[in-house]
Amino acid sequence: MMPSNSILNSENSLMPCNLCENHDVSILGTRSRSGNPLRTVICKHCGLVWSDPFPHDPKHFYAEEYRLNYKNTYSPKSKHVLRAGKVALGRYQKIKHLLEEKKTILDVGTGGGEFAYLLKSSGHELFGIEPNKGYAEYSVAEYGLNLHIGFIQDSQFSLESFDLITIWHVLEHTEDPFFVLCKLRDLLKPQGVLVVEVPNIEATCQTPKSTFHEAHLFNFNLETLVKMGLKAGLIAQKPIYSEDRGNMTLLFSKALDCVQPAESWFIADNAERISHLVKNHTNLNHFFSTKPYIRFLKRMYRSVSEKVYINRLNKNKRLLDQIYQNAGHVYHEY
Ligand SMILES: [Zn+2]
Repeated sequence: MMPSNSILNSENSLMPCNLCENHDVSILGTRSRSGNPLRTVICKHCGLVWSDPFPHDPKHFYAEEYRLNYKNTYSPKSKHVLRAGKVALGRYQKIKHLLEEKKTILDVGTGGGEFAYLLKSSGHELFGIEPNKGYAEYSVAEYGLNLHIGFIQDSQFSLESFDLITIWHVLEHTEDPFFVLCKLRDLLKPQGVLVVEVPNIEATCQTPKSTFHEAHLFNFNLETLVKMGLKAGLIAQKPIYSEDRGNMTLLFSKALDCVQPAESWFIADNAERISHLVKNHTNLNHFFSTKPYIRFLKRMYRSVSEKVYINRLNKNKRLLDQIYQNAGHVYHEY
């Protein structure tokens, strides 16, 4: 049964909805996971969720955060490389049907470079873009990646130059995700595929207080991401959810006709549905389910097995080579 409209209070947002351009919102949260004030709103017309106002200037935030944390001499600990390498293998699995022949690929938000290195070592022509100088310089030095330093929003890649573009857990951090999707569409070749992975706002695997995060300026569910893609001229294929449904991956192809339809970007009942899920994700419900305990046990197991593994290997590239080979990954040229 759908919840009634009374779950939605009425406020105005400071900025228009990035999907449907309305200002009619409801307050979904007032605190971030760190306990700081963070006004999170949901658009009553389409269900897009965002921090309003943004808690920081996004580009400044990334520069400052990383400068403070890494002082431009980023060098990740082995346990983080191991974890990121396993994540990279999982990502590879999701799209391996797209990698059967040599492709020209752009990885947006390359981070520590583990996924890009996996693609490069598979023989693909790999380009990356990463705004953080420390990360970028590290992954160029460690893995020999072909990287641009900067934000995708400002990048100057040639139009229609990529067979495949991947953007893992980046879109929710950007100040204008619709603009980013339009930009990526323009960079894709006509038959190209865009892979987008974001956290799922409908997930209940995290503790309730962890739902909203200063770094995640936008929060999507399947409906809002599919529709934003459509507005940007991208057709979504079937989504892939992580086991705990905390993340969703969408593969988009280019719409043949880029003319936007005159219909509004209203999504019926989506705001009510998301609000209902978020507001019912209470501590009582969460801790009476098995989810937090399974999550805790998995993390304990991961922590112990990482220590055992890392004791045997220390150089980050060797560590990645080892886990990629153990997973059956073949290093080759097409
Ligand atoms: Zn909207």
